[in-house]
Amino acid sequence: MNFLRIVEAKRDGRRHPTAEIRDLVAGVVEGSLPDYQAAAWLMAVYFRGLDDAECRDLTLAMRDSGEVLRFPEDPRPVVDKHSTGGVGDKVSLPLAPLLACMGFRVPMISGRGLGITGGTLDKLASIPGFRTALTRDEILDQVDRLGVAMAAQTDRMVPADRRLYALRDVTATVPHPALITASILSKKLAEGLGALVLDVKVGSAAFLPRPEDARALARAMTRLATACGVRTRAVLTDMDTPVGRSAGNWLEVGESIECLRGRGPADLRSLVVELAAHLVVLTGHPPASPDPAGTPGTADIDSARSAAAAWLDSGRVLDRWHRMLAAQGADLDATARQLDAGPIAPVVVELTAERDGWVQRCDARVCGEVVRDLGGGRIRQDDVIDPRVGLDRLARPGDPVRRGELLARIHAATPAAADIARTRLAQAIPVGDSPPDPTPLVLEVVDAEE
Ligand code: URA
Repeated sequence: MNFLRIVEAKRDGRRHPTAEIRDLVAGVVEGSLPDYQAAAWLMAVYFRGLDDAECRDLTLAMRDSGEVLRFPEDPRPVVDKHSTGGVGDKVSLPLAPLLACMGFRVPMISGRGLGITGGTLDKLASIPGFRTALTRDEILDQVDRLGVAMAAQTDRMVPADRRLYALRDVTATVPHPALITASILSKKLAEGLGALVLDVKVGSAAFLPRPEDARALARAMTRLATACGVRTRAVLTDMDTPVGRSAGNWLEVGESIECLRGRGPADLRSLVVELAAHLVVLTGHPPASPDPAGTPGTADIDSARSAAAAWLDSGRVLDRWHRMLAAQGADLDATARQLDAGPIAPVVVELTAERDGWVQRCDARVCGEVVRDLGGGRIRQDDVIDPRVGLDRLARPGDPVRRGELLARIHAATPAAADIARTRLAQAIPVGDSPPDPTPLVLEVVDAEE
């Protein structure tokens, strides 16, 4: 196969016929397309773009690059959620078992961290023993038994995304709408879903920071997924501020468990509840009640929100989470000991306020860069993540603070790394004389027909 011709075609702004995209994806999977040509093609797409038909062809070729899940008939709808990527975005961890409790089946396939955004897989990998490389049969069986499995792209499931995802991460080619669409929807369409909710991030740490670009991405993704038979809705949410009060793999697992206990930061809980509620509305599936003697709720947004919140408060979602962890090989005792041990990074330092006032912002982009540079993300493809590092107890815009009070804690591998992080973070969390205007967490809901 002459891949050079395909790279040249995109470099020169020509559109790819379907067969050319299939050949390219086959080359990605078989390994006959070398990394240097795949990277050159990605950069050509970054500048020249893909039209809707090319984006659809790429998505479907990537979906079909491996095994596709087909679930048996069952009253529990098969659903999922995916985010376009954020800092501190641990929403999938509590949301997946919550949806299982509410009466859905959730075969969640996720990726590792991309750029400065954290990846669900890297967070899960920080749990002792947890296995994300599941086979198709393992996913089908676990979802049937527990309602939920959280897995990776593998050599057998969406292998084309596995390779392109890793290459995009280190070639500055993540932030392109068609590449994001194909990456996300190839995984989601391989899951055999009935409905999907997309969390499209807007703001400083989002791949497409401007609302108009995020809205266009949301429209393109909902249109394509719906045309492929999956009822899909996108929710545009704020990514100027990290989600919750922690960023960094193991720290985010800890915060997710707080959410599963019905506690934790309000914004995290509210995103989890909101996305669950939209899936109830999309499917029209009345959510199961957390009270074993209770009757199912109704499929309108307000009662879906109440049902999701009641499930989190019941403690039973935490139980489902533990069952999922055990099914995927996690050592529950070691996990509990690691949680009880408090910070596991060798160095923990505090950033404190230099004056009284109100926190003006907590810049998610800077927080993401700091976490990545502490070792919580990758700059090279083979970089090994340090799950211990990151930030917690992050102040949020509008928090009142007094001089000397905590703005963030930095968890680092060495004192030198902690000092660099503290200096950079000090600029990202300014304190001013009056509270800033509040920013809504959910900015907009986009449906396919809009
Ligand atoms: N999440 C993905 O799976 N792919 C992207 O390109 C961005 C976010």
